[in-house]
Amino acid sequence: MRNLLEYHQLMGVKEIPVRRKPEARSKKQETRSQKTEVRRQKSENRSQKQEARSQNPKTQDAKDKQLRTLLEEIGDCTRCRLCKGRTHLVFGVGNPNAKLMFVGEGPGRDEDIQGEPFVGRAGQLLTKIINAMGHKRSEVYIANIVKCRPPENRNPEPDEIAECLPFLLHQIDIIKPKAIICLGKVASSALMKTEEPISRLRGKMQDFQGIPLMPTYHPAYLLRNPDAKKQVWEDVKKVMKLVRS
Ligand code: SF4
Repeated sequence: MRNLLEYHQLMGVKEIPVRRKPEARSKKQETRSQKTEVRRQKSENRSQKQEARSQNPKTQDAKDKQLRTLLEEIGDCTRCRLCKGRTHLVFGVGNPNAKLMFVGEGPGRDEDIQGEPFVGRAGQLLTKIINAMGHKRSEVYIANIVKCRPPENRNPEPDEIAECLPFLLHQIDIIKPKAIICLGKVASSALMKTEEPISRLRGKMQDFQGIPLMPTYHPAYLLRNPDAKKQVWEDVKKVMKLVRS
């Protein structure tokens, strides 16, 4: 030891760092990990409280009221030409407190007649997908990019989407779902502002104003291409994990 000190002195070393006793260090580490655990617990409690608040019947009532107010604001809307051919304005349906929201492109014939989104054959398939995900249709929220039926079920035009989209955005803002599933190219393009084909978009989780968004095929496409159901199932499985967590 003496030789070693002398060697350091010779080399011009004036101070030798003293290593703390292992015991002292481990106590410090212990305190640090206790603090981290307390922080983790606090954050967990906070998110549990938020979750409980959002499941609170009062919150549900408040959201329901906000949605009804929005519907009143939309009124007998004539903001775009789609108003001319509609029987019913199709606002949206489901749980105002839903963790999961589905967005399609617009009402078809059956939806226009009944005033509810996704009630035709494609809608029945969507209900099966929702059930396979472990939910009832009444637990999720379903809406469309445009609220009135485009003639002959054509795609909505960009100016029609531009007029109607703010209503959907307001609905999303009220409901605050944990995840959104976009059904088909029109819905995905309108929310994500992209012209990418749905075959390229699907399956890749996106961020929509802080909400995870999964683009996938429209159920009407699945009726024509049943083989694509496997891909849709892969896509929705990714969302199931998010909604459960
Ligand atoms: S599609 Fe939307 S903007 Fe156009 S008339 Fe219907 S509710 Fe109004």
